[in-house]
Amino acid sequence: MGQRPPIILWLRRDLRLADHPAMVAAIATGQPVIPLFIHDEVVEVLGAAAKFRLGLSLENISTQLRDLGAALILRRGRAHDVLRSVVAETGATGVFWSRLYDTASKVRDTEVKAALRKEGVKADSHPGHVLFEPWTVSTKTGGFYKVYTPFWNTVKQKEVGVCLPAPKRWPAPANWPKSATLSNWKMDAEMNRGAAAVAKHQRVGERAAQDRLRNFIEIAVDGYKKYRDFPGLRSTSGLSENLTYGEISPRMVWHAGARALNEGHLGAEHFLKELVWREFSYHLIHHTPWIETECWRRVWESFPWRGDTELAEAWRRGRTGIPFVDAAMREMYVTGTMHNRARMIVGSYLTKHLLTDWRIGQAWFADCLTDWDPAANAMGWQWVAGCGPDATPYFRVFNPVTQADKFDADQSYQRRWIAEGYTKPSRTALSYFKAVPRSWALSEDIAYPDPIVSASDGRGVALVAYSAWKEGH
Ligand code: FAD
Repeated sequence: MGQRPPIILWLRRDLRLADHPAMVAAIATGQPVIPLFIHDEVVEVLGAAAKFRLGLSLENISTQLRDLGAALILRRGRAHDVLRSVVAETGATGVFWSRLYDTASKVRDTEVKAALRKEGVKADSHPGHVLFEPWTVSTKTGGFYKVYTPFWNTVKQKEVGVCLPAPKRWPAPANWPKSATLSNWKMDAEMNRGAAAVAKHQRVGERAAQDRLRNFIEIAVDGYKKYRDFPGLRSTSGLSENLTYGEISPRMVWHAGARALNEGHLGAEHFLKELVWREFSYHLIHHTPWIETECWRRVWESFPWRGDTELAEAWRRGRTGIPFVDAAMREMYVTGTMHNRARMIVGSYLTKHLLTDWRIGQAWFADCLTDWDPAANAMGWQWVAGCGPDATPYFRVFNPVTQADKFDADQSYQRRWIAEGYTKPSRTALSYFKAVPRSWALSEDIAYPDPIVSASDGRGVALVAYSAWKEGH
């Protein structure tokens, strides 16, 4: 008897084996399963660092699958075109995938699902990228949440399902379809000089993610609430990098936090709350998709934001003359990540001190972050700019100097990332100059700039602009 026709498991941001509902469902059909990744229209437009980091993740999952006797098939092209040809080549009867919620993915997936079904192919989407499907959490009146705290109060009472085990054996087809070669895709091509520097800071793949979670729960969770705002300390989990590519499931992170809380580690409650901010961002991106591109409170579209000026360029290059801001921008350029407190400070400085459109910051983060996430990034930017749901009011301007005094009093963070002016600059600070494009012509020997807008002047400028705008509304 010939082998049964295969199922295609279309992998996207779910590059793991454990707790993978779509994978489990595909294997449960009893048919052979072909894991497929498509360098499609959504991947094509990713920022430089996100694309580079995705490449590392693909390399890792490909090895994991190989160890199980499976091959990760790589193809490039429009998602539907590729799926249609792999179905034709293999005789696959179904395509399974894990759901995503950003607009580009939703548009693609809706089109693919309808087209496949029309062609007589089973098209099944599964949960796994978030804890709670965005449409399963609603207010008492049946609407969606616009404010975080009531959202948290609702979801904390919801049941989170148990994690599914990783497959022990892979149902391989008799013949594997042909695959592109990952190295030929050159997913690091847009990284300028930075790829080698940034690579050192990545902890890629499922095992790294699980180790990270275990270490965090064992060592740092108790101090999380107290120390999580100090960028000079390593007091947070660092899991955003892994969650964004689905190298670990949010459910696995949730259960580890919940177990720690049950065992009396009270810091774990705060950790769960932060994980739920990620959920909230997905709730919002699903229900109010314009959050990605337009001011969530639309009235803010008329705010006289500045466009892309030399001020924004100084901000991007870590040359504002405000050490906390510059340290953070350099940290992001070299490591692909930035501490959450620092994200708030640089976001506030750009949108308030420099009166610059939040979308300019959002785009730069999308290009530089290896933990770039469409939902968390959009929500974070709208939060700092004051135009989002449950946002910090515009008139609440973070002062980057007093913030540094409070959260980096010993200046360990600033010293880690600023080289200029120090007789013995740190290795990390110097690494910035190796990572940035040559065209920026930066070196540690060029004097550190004076503030382009000082911490105190900026507040006044922002408040005047805000009052003038407010009067017109
Ligand atoms: P931990 O403190 O260990 O928290 C655990 C997990 O909870 C995180 O991994 C993350 O998944 C989630 N989480 C924590 N804080 C937030 C938050 N404020 N919003 C949403 N989820 C949260 N996060 C991203 O993952 N990708 C982004 O592109 C991104 N862009 C941001 C842009 C701005 C302007 C701001 C203010 C925040 C942004 N964040 C983003 C949220 C946050 O800064 C990061 O999730 C956090 O710094 C990740 O570090 P960690 O994994 O050590 O977090």
